[in-house]
Amino acid sequence: MAILRIENAQIITMADGDATLHECWTLEAVDGAITYVGPSEGLQSAAEPDERIDGSDCLLLPGFVNAHTHAAMTLFRGSADDMPLEPWLHEKIWPIEAKLTADDVYWGTLLGCAEMLRAGVTCFNDMYHLPREGTRAAMDCGIRMCPAGVLLGIVPNAEDMFEEALAFTREFARRDDLCIHPMLAPHAPYTVPRELMERVIGAAQEIGVAIHIHLAETADNVATAMKTYGATPIQAMDGIGLFEAKVLGAHCVHLSDRDIEIIAQKHVGVAHCPGSNLKLASGIARTRDLLATGAHVGLGTDGSGSNNNLDLLEEARLAALIAKVSTGDPTAVPAEAALEMATLGGARAIFLDYCVGSLEPGKRCDCILVDLDAPHLQPRHCLSSHMIYSAQASDVKTTIVDGKVLMRDRELLTIDLPETYAKVGESVERLFG
Ligand SMILES: [Zn+2]
Repeated sequence: MAILRIENAQIITMADGDATLHECWTLEAVDGAITYVGPSEGLQSAAEPDERIDGSDCLLLPGFVNAHTHAAMTLFRGSADDMPLEPWLHEKIWPIEAKLTADDVYWGTLLGCAEMLRAGVTCFNDMYHLPREGTRAAMDCGIRMCPAGVLLGIVPNAEDMFEEALAFTREFARRDDLCIHPMLAPHAPYTVPRELMERVIGAAQEIGVAIHIHLAETADNVATAMKTYGATPIQAMDGIGLFEAKVLGAHCVHLSDRDIEIIAQKHVGVAHCPGSNLKLASGIARTRDLLATGAHVGLGTDGSGSNNNLDLLEEARLAALIAKVSTGDPTAVPAEAALEMATLGGARAIFLDYCVGSLEPGKRCDCILVDLDAPHLQPRHCLSSHMIYSAQASDVKTTIVDGKVLMRDRELLTIDLPETYAKVGESVERLFG
């Protein structure tokens, strides 16, 4: 039995989305499951913990959930910037991706995991090629991951891709690993034809996993769906039964009122990716309207080719700021709502709120300690406001996943950074020559 105890911290649990600050609280976890969160003096446990962390002068929060990324795309960071989405994919990304080896995906993903753990991300939802390799990287460093092999219907090897992704998802669904939650990932309605999409929907329901898909990312995506289906991407996918499965839609930028109703009614999770949407000039999502319906909205960084980092705190700040300027309403997406999107909202969007997203007894212990000893976090009028409007990812001091300390005092314990940089350098040399 492994006991972890974090003592005398300031805690925001995010339980039921509540961002209230509790002073001098303690959290205890046994074998990775939270058993106590409450006033330090209320802890009854007499057992000596295996790991004791002093939380004073720190803020303890649920770990951030990155609800949409392609972690191995760290390899592409800075290689193709300042382009629109479709030429960026067709001319820059897909030709290099065709050359990716298992090693490239492993080391690219591990670099992404290092960046995320340093920034307080404890769980990421990933769609990429060679998912076994990305998953191996996540398992080696201990981060929580929802992996899925990307499915494209418009390539010559589409059938092989589908069979491989299906075999991968079946295998990992059967393993029931506590930190690996597989999905199926048809890339998007404009790259996966109807017949293949219907097979994916059937497979997801049969295996009992969720679907991770890009939806309504650009105005072009909407025009293509109108041409192909005579409907918006959301209504077209609703029409073919996609939302009968559990679905996480990444981006969801261009939505009609009816689209938003469908998303809310069918409990479609949304990964809002403001940084990527800004950089690719895709548009500004209707986050305030989505949240008003009670839709499950989380945040995603998207891949490092289009962001260019995996800093979820930056996405939370962007989400709050863009919602205000785009609606002319400074009360749209307040700090607490942005913090919820970064934690519990993300967990709900990827269907993992039964086990993560908030600090409550019974949930797995995914949490972070933020160092409050910094000039930009003084004075402490409101820590949830500080997290969104003032804090930096580098303020995260300790990152814990499933009760295991993966970063202590800003030092990663499960990833060898010099080795990772060297291996990534070798991959980049081979891919980009
Ligand atoms: Zn994406």
